[in-house]
Amino acid sequence: MKDVRVRFAPSPTGALHIGGVRTALYNYLLARQTGGTMILRIEDTDQTRYVPGAEEYIVRSLAWVGITIDEGVGVGGPHAPYRQSERKEIYAKYAKQLIDNGHAYYAFDTEDELEQMRERLKAAGVDQQQYNSITRMQMRNSLTLSEQEVKTLMEAGTPYVIRLKVPRKEEVRLNDLIRGWVMVHSSQIDDKVLMKSDGMPTYHLANVVDDYLMKITHVIRGEEWLPSAPLHVLLYKFLDWEEVMPQFAHLPLLLKPSGDGKLSKRDADQMGFPIFPLDWNDPTTNEKAVGYRESGYLPDALVNFLAFLGWNPGTTQEIFSMDELIKAFSIERIGKAGARFDIQKAQWFNQQYLKSKSNEELAIYLIDILNAAGVDCSQEKAIKISSIMKDRITFPKDMWEQAKFLFFTPTTFDQSVADKKWNADAVTVISAYRDSLSKLAHFDANIAKETLETVTASVGIGAGKILQALRLSITGAGAGPDLMMVMEIIGQQEVVKRLDFALQTLKVKVA
Ligand code: GLU
Repeated sequence: MKDVRVRFAPSPTGALHIGGVRTALYNYLLARQTGGTMILRIEDTDQTRYVPGAEEYIVRSLAWVGITIDEGVGVGGPHAPYRQSERKEIYAKYAKQLIDNGHAYYAFDTEDELEQMRERLKAAGVDQQQYNSITRMQMRNSLTLSEQEVKTLMEAGTPYVIRLKVPRKEEVRLNDLIRGWVMVHSSQIDDKVLMKSDGMPTYHLANVVDDYLMKITHVIRGEEWLPSAPLHVLLYKFLDWEEVMPQFAHLPLLLKPSGDGKLSKRDADQMGFPIFPLDWNDPTTNEKAVGYRESGYLPDALVNFLAFLGWNPGTTQEIFSMDELIKAFSIERIGKAGARFDIQKAQWFNQQYLKSKSNEELAIYLIDILNAAGVDCSQEKAIKISSIMKDRITFPKDMWEQAKFLFFTPTTFDQSVADKKWNADAVTVISAYRDSLSKLAHFDANIAKETLETVTASVGIGAGKILQALRLSITGAGAGPDLMMVMEIIGQQEVVKRLDFALQTLKVKVA
């Protein structure tokens, strides 16, 4: 088999959408699985939609999720440059070749003339008002004008575009790796502009020329490009490249969480989840968007989640590291049906990945979060906190937000818990426990536990009956992580202080 060469070819028109990350990921998985090459090409020929900073954002986003690039912008390679705006002359050459071979033509129609054509067709009841094999013969182009007229117009500097001469009656077919045979009649395809009047190619020409020159073997991209694929097939044919035409794989759409329609940034905003991998500050609108990274998603969890949006391994295994995905991935197991974007599933993956991290690793996250909040914490304490919080969190920041009582003495108590659990038994045990704890020479979670057992046994009240009241007096709440470890983390003195405060503040409810 030919060496696999795949490309991710985003247009720098804004932040990289999460769906784009999935496209890049599938390309990357195939490249790594086959020992092939992953290429990053920037498709920036539409100057009107160019957004400064978008290219750099794409590069940073791919790096964050762990998609490495073998050839492309920022890396270089044998087919450089990899930015289409720097390859203008190359496209001009192939456009000329198409003209010389009778597969393309110059068109001089002005915007007004094009509009008039559409009006005329509309008035005549034609559904699709297209510039095509029929209508082109009524327009001003090198098929209807004489050679001399064309020459005169060009010499006068009249703006023109180059259009593809789509045959009138031809079945265009392609065998998509995901969708199977796709057949389109050429009468459905219009004479697409290949070169614009500013001398820049359109997406179609640049994309096909570059895929050919860069020796791309598989074009893996979103379903929204499927309608363009027959046109691309025609281009391969007219340029005499049919033999080396890449295989196409059009990925299923990402659907809204409701499953009803394509996922949009608006859905994400409304439902409060990110749509971009990293924070994005749009320089054109000044809009700010929070990224997956800044929301606390781990890159490996996000990758695992995205891999499953359209693909499945055919087994019940759900947790896959990048290396495992590289081994298990196959285009055959990508579905045709749209994939519902379920943010709860993304959070579930994040929980699983957080759980599987070592306490030491989590402590690094926690210390960063605490630093940002201006709170001091030793590494030893951060490791202990990680150990009791890791099973309870969705995002690293939860280790802080759900456990502020580990840093600050609570000043209030959950009243509903107090009403139910703060009773005479609780006061008896907690007072005795407070006295025993204050006398201890050593203190840790085990000693705290043993001491509680001794105290409850001596007063004859089961620990189970007062445990929630004890937790309330130490943390202010009725539920939370391992209480004995909580005591170890906050330390003997602080525990005694908190018990004193609770005993003074909480009142036994008299029925
Ligand atoms: N530039 C196109 C995009 O922005 C690339 C489509 C393709 O992969 O052919 O998605």
